[in-house]
Amino acid sequence: MKAYDGMYIGGQWRPAAGTDTIDVVNPADERVIATVPAGTAEDIDAAVRAARAAFPGWAATPPAERAAYIAALRDAMVARADEIAETVTAELGSPIGLSRKVHAGAPIAVAGSYAELAATYPFEEKVGNSTVLLEPVGVVGAITPWNYPLHQIVAKVGPALAAGCTVVVKPAEDTPLVARLFAELVHEAGLPAGVFNLVTGLGPVAGQALAEHEGVDLVSFTGSTAVGKRIGATAGAAVKRVALELGGKSANVILPSADLARAVKIGVANVMSNSGQTCSAWTRMLVHTDQYDEAVELARTAAGGYLAGDPHDTANRLGPVVNAKQRARVRGYIEKGIKEGATLVTGGPEAPHATGYYIAPTVFAEVTPEMTIAQEEIFGPVLSLLRYEDEEDALRIANGTVYGLAGAVWAGDESEAVAFARRMDTGQVDINGGRFNPLAPFGGYKQSGVGRELGAHGLAEYLQTKSLQF
Ligand code: NAP
Ligand code: MG
Repeated sequence: MKAYDGMYIGGQWRPAAGTDTIDVVNPADERVIATVPAGTAEDIDAAVRAARAAFPGWAATPPAERAAYIAALRDAMVARADEIAETVTAELGSPIGLSRKVHAGAPIAVAGSYAELAATYPFEEKVGNSTVLLEPVGVVGAITPWNYPLHQIVAKVGPALAAGCTVVVKPAEDTPLVARLFAELVHEAGLPAGVFNLVTGLGPVAGQALAEHEGVDLVSFTGSTAVGKRIGATAGAAVKRVALELGGKSANVILPSADLARAVKIGVANVMSNSGQTCSAWTRMLVHTDQYDEAVELARTAAGGYLAGDPHDTANRLGPVVNAKQRARVRGYIEKGIKEGATLVTGGPEAPHATGYYIAPTVFAEVTPEMTIAQEEIFGPVLSLLRYEDEEDALRIANGTVYGLAGAVWAGDESEAVAFARRMDTGQVDINGGRFNPLAPFGGYKQSGVGRELGAHGLAEYLQTKSLQF
């Protein structure tokens, strides 16, 4: 157990204003592994002031120099990649292999992409007799969740720094340790004081104070739809920019011409990865009625390959969910699925282990589009298989939720899959198992959010335009 002290504000670790602390729990064994200070409005105010003071200097720093700082930060992350992975496994419970590859690997790739974009992005453009300057928005308040704890910090801090903005981050209370490690790396990389600031704390206290602070020009939030709506309303009332990356209930559409076995196997892997705690997970698998029974058997077998247990044992491909509350929530959804008449193919609400917040890999069949488990984000290792009669039916089901974050389409012919994807109301679609692209814009249609992250589109969120007429 380690008691961490201080907030990273204005280039140094400063004592927190209050004395309250947050327990950090390892979800695999339920032990408290650390405590961090619970920040208050006073800490947030100090951090925003530091960010505001640093803003003019950072905004005036030539983009190529900002790029060099971001590259140094990326290199510092690379040097401590193992420690990043161990830290995420300790506080989130993700299998260590996944932590190395994704929880450490993805933010390193994203930081690298922004080092490059900062150096190459056209911060000026010509439109007729005007020169348009793309200038940083100002001070960014970033509120991040626990499911991809470092990735979600870097997906906001990377573009903000590249744009010339300064930042205050409030990380999730469940995963503050990798955020603190990131602050250390920022310090090692030698970023000017106040450009990046970190305040750990609770959402309704520190998070809310950050979203409401008048010194913040843009609030970037990733998390639940309920909190996102409040943050959007607060930002709207203050005429402040806001970016919201909220939930999803994405459809994995397997067209009859697809390689069914491959589509089901990758579809199951997509949902089980990170214990299902992925906003873009394809939690609804749509299969043609003629292939449905075969797909159910394939899904049962694939899910059986996900052994839940100790994230350090590489035989286990499924870690716990993040905390007791999330486990109770996910179990509630599984019980609801059974009650509403879906067929439990494998898994269920019973805990596979006495200790640790584990959930068995769970597959439901005969799920109909209006059922709760087909409409609401579960955020656990739970897959629903839905039956469709024809392509129009598949499209209606795919688009039939309030969300629109991601999705997948499988077909024998790529162009057939693309034609279907064009009609989907969603921000990202993987065609026949296409790979994650850290430069592709990521974000939602409908209630999945406002704004885009990653790549050049993600950078544009942190810029505002000024037109000079000649
Ligand atoms: P959450 O409460 O929305 O948490 C996201 C972030 O917002 C955290 O840093 C949180 O702080 C902070 N926050 C909470 N209340 C706030 C407020 N009133 N003002 C400002 N900031 C606030 O999400 P959660 O409770 O951790 O998870 C609940 C559900 O949200 C999940 O089951 C899942 O469905 C969804 N979720 C989606 C994503 C995504 O990637 N889209 C990520 C996580 C969760 P605390 O950590 O202190 O709560
Ligand atoms: Mg919360």
